[in-house]
Amino acid sequence: MRIDIMTLFPDIVGDMLCESVLGRGQERGYIRVECHQIRDYSENKQKQVDDYPYGGGRGCVMLAQPLYKCWQHICADAGRQIHTIFMSPCGHVFTQADAKRLQGEYDRLIIVCGRYEGVDERFIEECVDEELSIGDFVLTGGEIPAMAVADAVCRLVPGVLPDEECFIDESHWDGALEYPQYTRPEVWNGRHVPEILLSGHHENIKKWRRIQSLERTRDRRPDMYEKLKLN
Ligand code: SAM
Repeated sequence: MRIDIMTLFPDIVGDMLCESVLGRGQERGYIRVECHQIRDYSENKQKQVDDYPYGGGRGCVMLAQPLYKCWQHICADAGRQIHTIFMSPCGHVFTQADAKRLQGEYDRLIIVCGRYEGVDERFIEECVDEELSIGDFVLTGGEIPAMAVADAVCRLVPGVLPDEECFIDESHWDGALEYPQYTRPEVWNGRHVPEILLSGHHENIKKWRRIQSLERTRDRRPDMYEKLKLN
């Protein structure tokens, strides 16, 4: 899986995605993340990347020209097989199912990070395949959303995590939330680890965790609980 991120802050995004699990995934060649400075593609002398909105109103809008040139540069060696995502509060809200879908269906993704009031709509019409939001709130830029999507997708690429169990046992994989987790010591601040987890009885532990997971989902996310197919 290769992900190209178009941003005005390539160093921040690149540094973040080079750390820890994703850094090792890149070193071992399972994933590749490339960050591109949109400003480098501006044809303007001042390397301008934004301008006032037609129709008036506050703020500035990102120009289509540098975005398009940057996008064309990335696409040059891969053609239209690349799937382009624009991070936007107007997009479909990203879920684990989207992470699974993007990892399963595409070898290459481009993620475009907006800034200011957003980007010229004509760039979206011309180049973008889907718009994704990371929630019903507005951030100052698309970098944090892009990092969230890239991280969620990359950790599903085979080889990035030690084995599949690492993510299939987690919250949102099968529509439920994860059970509570504990580590040493057995007693901390007068709070005990549940007896069952010390029993060594794997079948009972599995059942206990499933019940905890279902109860947690019911209590915290009744919307998810309603959709679970329980027998
Ligand atoms: N004027 C835009 C609106 O009202 O929809 C918001 C622009 S926001 C200040 C600047 C950029 O941050 C957006 O173009 C987008 O790339 C990114 N962004 C902000 N909130 C986001 C969210 N919830 N999900 C994804 N991207 C977001």
